[in-house]
Amino acid sequence: MRKGQMTLLCAAQLNFASAIKLAHAFGCDLRVLSAANEFFILKHHGLMDCLSEINTNPCIIDEQGRLRILPYHDFHSSSYGCTICPPSMCKGLILEKIQASVATDGKKHKQLIYVGDGAPDFCAGLKLDEGDFLMARRDFPI
Ligand SMILES: [Zn+2]
Repeated sequence: MRKGQMTLLCAAQLNFASAIKLAHAFGCDLRVLSAANEFFILKHHGLMDCLSEINTNPCIIDEQGRLRILPYHDFHSSSYGCTICPPSMCKGLILEKIQASVATDGKKHKQLIYVGDGAPDFCAGLKLDEGDFLMARRDFPI
C-alpha cells in the first residue's frame, strides 16, 4: 500500500480532526477554505499547527460582546460575479488563488485533494485540474 492510499483509508475510519492530524504527519500541505468563520475554526485547538493557511470569513467581538462575522470578499465595493456561491465568499476564486500560490516555475500546481459538502464547494470543484480530486461528504448537497 502506498503512503497516499493509507491516508485515505485511515481518514474514512477516523474523525475529521484525526484525519487532519494524520494527513499532516504524512507531509500533506493542509489549507482551510471555509464559509464558517475564524471564531469557529480557531476554537479547534490542536489543529492550527497542521494548517498552512486558513481562508474564512473574519470576525470580531463588538463592544457588547457579540460575535460579528464579516464577509471574506467585500461584495459592497465589487461583485465577483459568481452565481453559485453566497456574496460573502466565492470558494472558486480562493481556490484559484491557492493554485497560483503553489505553482512552481510556471508548472502546474501540486496535486490537490479538495474535501467539501456544499454548493460553494461545487464552485471550487469546477476549478480543479485533471489529476486533482474532489471528495464530497456523503448525504450533503455538493
Ligand atoms: Zn463561486
